Amino acid sequence: MRTLKQLIPAVTVSDGAGVKIKRSLGQTPQLRLDPFLMLDCFGSEQANDYIAGFPAHPHRGFETVTYMLDGHMLHEDHLGNKGHLKSGGVQWMTAGRGIIHSEMPQQESGLMRGFQLWLNLPAAEKMKDAAYVDITPEHIPVAHPAQGISVKVIAGTYTYQQQRWAGPIQGLSTEPLYFDIHLVAGQNLTLPIPDGHNALLYPYEGEVQLMSTQQQRIPSHHAAVLSLTGELAISAEQDVKLLLLAAKPINEPIVQYGPFVMNSVDEIEQAIRDYQQGQLTSGTSPSTIKLHSAS
Ligand code: MN
Repeated sequence: MRTLKQLIPAVTVSDGAGVKIKRSLGQTPQLRLDPFLMLDCFGSEQANDYIAGFPAHPHRGFETVTYMLDGHMLHEDHLGNKGHLKSGGVQWMTAGRGIIHSEMPQQESGLMRGFQLWLNLPAAEKMKDAAYVDITPEHIPVAHPAQGISVKVIAGTYTYQQQRWAGPIQGLSTEPLYFDIHLVAGQNLTLPIPDGHNALLYPYEGEVQLMSTQQQRIPSHHAAVLSLTGELAISAEQDVKLLLLAAKPINEPIVQYGPFVMNSVDEIEQAIRDYQQGQLTSGTSPSTIKLHSAS
């Protein structure tokens, strides 16, 4: 069974044009979990915490995954492509060589809540063409292996006994698992994660216990980095909602400058030059990521 290696409390920071977020992974370069660079949780009923959004900004060298729990956000890229992200939806974006986009709330009141994950790309894929897809909730399977347990499968595949639930995102070189797991009090869940893949849990409502030798408790809004082998076994003493993220590490040097994540200082300087000269996205128009279809 996987045990707890490190607990990273989320801290409140401000990003974009003044959006309040809870950041766990990515607070510092030391607090990453290869290939995950950053995990932000946004959640507020106060419009002032989110209304300014994320006006036009660039990315190069990695993927951003936005999962909306509640609310409505408009994504717009440098070519004018638009996508509406609504409650329960996901935008999976491969920035690759470059994209310039904005991510703006489309509501002036009410709860806005969700996550943005930054997932690194291996050197061989950092300069590929940009691509993205807006995934509506109907395309995201939810498994109910038992009463009081649900597993929403955004990326990768969840298996239970002879059954398989394949998420819409498949076939990436880091083989990510991105699950939103809900357990009611008293329930427990065991699921396989490939040995050698990094994994973390992030409870966003309630807390969860790791069923290793000691019952290790993971409080709300803490990223729990797990040991490298064995399966995941968790139990709930109270109702809990949490993310499970796991993926194959890339094991390459990382040089980050804000929204550019490359392997060397030279490549970062190139990205800054390209951006300043209006060349960041040249020769590429974002294409659509093909969804895996269960049917
Ligand atoms: Mn962005």
